[in-house]
Amino acid sequence: MYIVHRPAHLREWMNVPGRAGIVGFVPTMGALHTGHLSLVKRSLEETDITVVSIFVNPRQFNDPADLAKYPRPVEDDIRLLAEAGAHLLFLPEVEDIYPPGDNRVIDFDPGPLAAGMEGFFRPGHFQGMAEVVYRLLEIVRPDRLFMGQKDYQQLAIVRRMVQHYDLPVEVVMCPTQREPNGLAMSSRNVRLSAAARARAGVIHDALVAGRAAFREGQPAGAIRQMAVDMIRQAGFEVEYYDIVNGNTLMSVTDRHEAPLIVACCAVRAEDVRLIDNMVWVSPDPS
Ligand code: AMP
Repeated sequence: MYIVHRPAHLREWMNVPGRAGIVGFVPTMGALHTGHLSLVKRSLEETDITVVSIFVNPRQFNDPADLAKYPRPVEDDIRLLAEAGAHLLFLPEVEDIYPPGDNRVIDFDPGPLAAGMEGFFRPGHFQGMAEVVYRLLEIVRPDRLFMGQKDYQQLAIVRRMVQHYDLPVEVVMCPTQREPNGLAMSSRNVRLSAAARARAGVIHDALVAGRAAFREGQPAGAIRQMAVDMIRQAGFEVEYYDIVNGNTLMSVTDRHEAPLIVACCAVRAEDVRLIDNMVWVSPDPS
């Protein structure tokens, strides 16, 4: 695996004659786990060149304490990516992505897609996220962009941005990888105590229970209450537990209201914010 820090070096490496092929890209903030590696694996299967970036984007952290506490085990990450078989690791500094004097801001407005859920609880987060993804795409110029379902709202917004600018990249959604108790893998999980991490499987349990009740036609309000109670009983606080149209991210109350329905939630466990989601109704029979 080749490692580059500067965008110009990345372009040089990509432009070497004979390197041509379909380029897959996996943007990350590091502290890699099996979830990230599943995206890398998928890219390796479906493209010729797999580029991974590790960049903790300060502009998408609305909470400075969260940014300061974000884990950065770069040596471990490099080893994991090399073992996985990634071809190129892009490891920029903040000045490489936001060069001094480059004050461009994108004119893309995610509108209602960013109004609820993460957008509501983390003001400015999606603006910062869209900006860094735009800049990374500009540098890497991939054919396919691999992102996790775990961050469903993020993915929906990136898809809309790609449409908005008519960018020549295909966004590929990859399934959420989970710990054995169902907890969605996240770089933040290492900050949980062992006891909380064990109990945090309840978030997935509450999504599974909600899905069954929703498909039976139980009222959305009652389902939400049941899920919130389950999670609270485990000692955690629920920030939101929303049932939304998977395309527009607007709330729905009935299983016939949209062809794609997703339940999304955010939970505070100790001082860690955990998010998860599950497709409850899908047009795809698989
Ligand atoms: P992050 O480093 O948290 O910005 O995540 C980088 C990419 O990995 C994003 O596309 C995430 O959605 C994806 N990702 C994070 N956790 C998981 C997971 N448990 N399963 C699948 N993809 C994930």
